[in-house]
Amino acid sequence: MKVVVGQGSCGVATGAKKTAAEFESQIKEKGLNIAVEKTGCIGTCYLEPIVDVYDDDGNITRYVKVQPGKVAEIVEKHLVSGEVAGNLEISDIDKTFIDKQKRIVLRNCGLINPEAIDEYIATGGYEATKKVITSMTPEEVIEEIKISGLRGRGGAGFPTWFKWNAAKSSPGKVKYMVCNADEGDPGAFMDRSVLEGDPHSLIEGMIIGGFAMGATEGVIYVRAEYPLAIQRLEIAMSQAREKGFLGKNLFGTDFSFDLRIKAGAGAFVCGEETALIASLEGERGMPRLKPPFPAQKGYWQKPTNINNVETFANVPWIIANGGAAFGAMGTPQSKGTKVFALAGKIKKGGLVEVPMGLPLKDVIYGIGDGIKNDKAFKAVQMGGPSGGCIPAELIDTPVDYENINKTGAIVGSGGMIVMDETTCMVDMARYFLDFTRKESCGKCNYCRVGTKRMLEILERITIGEGKDGDIELLEELAQKIKDGSMCGLGQTAPNPVLTTIKYFRNEYEDHIYNKK
Ligand code: SF4
Repeated sequence: MKVVVGQGSCGVATGAKKTAAEFESQIKEKGLNIAVEKTGCIGTCYLEPIVDVYDDDGNITRYVKVQPGKVAEIVEKHLVSGEVAGNLEISDIDKTFIDKQKRIVLRNCGLINPEAIDEYIATGGYEATKKVITSMTPEEVIEEIKISGLRGRGGAGFPTWFKWNAAKSSPGKVKYMVCNADEGDPGAFMDRSVLEGDPHSLIEGMIIGGFAMGATEGVIYVRAEYPLAIQRLEIAMSQAREKGFLGKNLFGTDFSFDLRIKAGAGAFVCGEETALIASLEGERGMPRLKPPFPAQKGYWQKPTNINNVETFANVPWIIANGGAAFGAMGTPQSKGTKVFALAGKIKKGGLVEVPMGLPLKDVIYGIGDGIKNDKAFKAVQMGGPSGGCIPAELIDTPVDYENINKTGAIVGSGGMIVMDETTCMVDMARYFLDFTRKESCGKCNYCRVGTKRMLEILERITIGEGKDGDIELLEELAQKIKDGSMCGLGQTAPNPVLTTIKYFRNEYEDHIYNKK
């Protein structure tokens, strides 16, 4: 028997550390020989702190919302007497939340101890790395990723194999594999959950990618606001080194690869590859002109490949199960699964992973259980500040790159902020534009000044001082910002405004003409 307490950031924020300490104290007091272990987030953040009691056959009883005051009952009834503590809330989230998903990236999150490499190895961990390094050529690895159809999960959706191949084909002996773990969208926490719950899956993905492109060094650029993720990554990297999975001559071959962490200051613009590289080099995080592309001249002018955490976490599974198995999920253009962070006015907020192409309705109602307090669903903001809102009438839209783009939103990194009938869409657009305006690096006039002017208009509309012609002015400015901005931040910044005007123009007009 063992007790496992979920201790991702969501668990810790709700008091999981105190819960775990209380278990340790009471188990010791009663002289029981039961271990108290930790795991990452299983995805149901709304139920934290979550406590799993494993019996000797591995069966789990899952107690939820376990504050320290509830620990005594679990210890007395379950750990001492072997009965389920019936007065407490026990969750059947496996049936209602987990079983409806297809978990590849999140396969180990909430199930293994992220600080114990042996638990990762017991799930087949590092077998894919061994297979690649000892029995495959770089070309075969890239071909397998090509077959899988894996596209970058950070937002752009660019084919992963193509980027790896471009970096591999660039001349030069020194090449770098970089992970963008600088997740900066409001409402997005997919990458943080993997870093905290299953860091070895990222490490494996980076080793495999490094082998494929010919890099011997990798850098994980992770935001400093993720201290727990950094701590667990450091533990994982150190344990991987001890086991010989990182370092020189891996698996007795002449391939060497090691990783280091660079803590970033959390600038949203550093999600743009060249800004991230500038920051890595110690400069202010500002995008650079392309070409040259990072695959040609990136970090310190060397060929560099950048993928995000989720992209890398898919890689070991693809190698272990074959690219075709991954490609069999999803749609012809958008293969595999995607992790989404469900937030806002949704009953079951948390992380979900589903095959690409699942209708939005199935995510929001089938897994997320609908809208809080049974209010009406109004819209969902997809893709963070670079994305757009999708209204209720489009709830049957399949969630894949192509169909979401048609709505004016983007899949982005996977943030889904759900809104109910009470949300003011103009205010929502104002919130996201305020975010991108603050995050603009200031290099381009249209992005720096244009977003400020748009924000001023939105602010006066929301306080009832809008003027005739404001909507048209917003549209004109939006187009100019899109056309005149150098990087994706500026090019996509107007999206929340444009999609809310497209689908909720009446709300803008109500504010302006009816002073609502
Ligand atoms: Fe900077 Fe905005 Fe120009 Fe991007 S578009 S380079 S964030 S000013």
